[in-house]
Amino acid sequence: MAEKKKKLTTASGKPYFEHEDSMTVGPHGPILLQDYILHEKMAHFNRERIPERVVHAKGTGAFGTFTVTHDITKYTKAKIFSKVGNKCRIFIRFSTVGGEKGSADTERDPRGFAVKFYTEDGNWDLVGNNTPVFFIKDPKKFSDFIHTQKRDPKTNLKSPTMMWDFWGLNPESLHQVMILFSDRGTPYSYRHTNGYGSHTFSMVNAKNERVWVKFHLKTQQGIKNFTGPEAEAMKAKDMDWAQRDLVEAIGRKEFPKWAMKIQVMTDEQAKSFHWNPFDLTKVWPHSDYPLMDIGILELNEIPSNYFRDVEQAAFAPAHVVDGIGYSYDKMLQGRLLSYPDAHRYRLGVNYEQIPVNRPITEVNNYQRDGYMRTDSNGDDKPNYAPNSFDDIVADKSYKDPPQKMDSEWADYFDRNENDDDHFTQPGMLFRKVMAEQERANTISNIVGSMSGITGPKREEIIQRQLQHFYKADKELAQKVAEGLKVNFKP
Ligand code: NDP
Repeated sequence: MAEKKKKLTTASGKPYFEHEDSMTVGPHGPILLQDYILHEKMAHFNRERIPERVVHAKGTGAFGTFTVTHDITKYTKAKIFSKVGNKCRIFIRFSTVGGEKGSADTERDPRGFAVKFYTEDGNWDLVGNNTPVFFIKDPKKFSDFIHTQKRDPKTNLKSPTMMWDFWGLNPESLHQVMILFSDRGTPYSYRHTNGYGSHTFSMVNAKNERVWVKFHLKTQQGIKNFTGPEAEAMKAKDMDWAQRDLVEAIGRKEFPKWAMKIQVMTDEQAKSFHWNPFDLTKVWPHSDYPLMDIGILELNEIPSNYFRDVEQAAFAPAHVVDGIGYSYDKMLQGRLLSYPDAHRYRLGVNYEQIPVNRPITEVNNYQRDGYMRTDSNGDDKPNYAPNSFDDIVADKSYKDPPQKMDSEWADYFDRNENDDDHFTQPGMLFRKVMAEQERANTISNIVGSMSGITGPKREEIIQRQLQHFYKADKELAQKVAEGLKVNFKP
């Protein structure tokens, strides 16, 4: 029996008989306006691109499974954690941060590590990075910081002068700068990086007791990094190396896994913590707050269409599920607003109806209409509340316990008030955590980048940064100064 073939159609479904030649007056004649399919093809093509993400534009993603391996019901009532063995589908998008959509995968940059858990209680998005900290601790500085990572307004080139000027004037960045210039700033592939929720989150249990929590995703493939020169060489050889690595590994059925772990802090511990536990430039030392295993993530399916699922994926730290909550981390609070806002701009107000973003649970509310509304739009049900007709209820059992604030003053407080120690943790990283070779590579990577600082402020920018390095570690500052061939007087 002959195979039944599909008919070519217009977008409105009309079978169409000619795909290659336009309708003309005679074989050499002008094209007729009435060749509607020609306009449809050209017009659709002109609109194929949507705005690329301002940050995290270059990325790749895969679906997989999350399995709960340990009982944490004493900390959270989240349904996904109600029983060891519970599973849910996940989608992870990895990315670089500063580069455009066509930029190289091996750039020195943090890596985005965003996980969407499709749970029976709605979507939970853990929108993290491959580093536990960040460059800034107040969202008001975010756009300024990102401008320094992008292109110079005049030359349209990346500018080490802008970067080091900003970092030097914001010493809170030092911790993340140290990680960025270690070999972890150039991971070998996404499979070989850790993920971190980075912010402090909260968990609430069935007794409505709250604890503070940090999430860690530890690669089971082992940490593997490029050195600076290896990353540069790969950039010239294969711009899409990390994407290729993930797609091909999953194609070979080598499914990458990450162990999910948490650190837990009580409110009493938070009050006496040496640093501000809600400061995104700080970690919680493992010796004081040990990692606890909670589950395993596995990626096992590359989406069959990149644009549909990866480009249109929209993660938001605001998307938590009952039993998991926010904290006072200022950066988290800023992201609660800015991520959904970015998606509304990039994908439209109904972005959560796009299949990759859609929860597996029923969505019931009074939001209606808007561009690209593709679900039932509430059918003929009331579009206002309260009403006397429908059976949608606001379930009070989902209410979180109240939070007591430690101040009744609203003002513009210095973000570093009582916490301007930007140096102890970078120093611990350099001396205690990094092996000798990694220290040497970090120094060489810093020298390589700072050598690119140019212009009349060069000396000032370098000296300022050396002072910060010195406060973290004397040897670090001296060696960077030697590498840059500058005189440094602490
Ligand atoms: P630990 O010795 O208990 O842990 C050190 C951590 O550092 C490990 O998680 C390790 O990750 C990670 N690490 C190793 N090399 C690098 C690098 N080049 N860049 C970033 N992370 C790296 O130390 P403490 O908890 O006492 O913290 C000491 C320092 O370690 C911190 O100041 C911080 O800079 C860094 N760190 C701490 C983390 C935390 O949550 N406490 C998390 C990540 C880093 P792995 O085990 O996967 O190799």
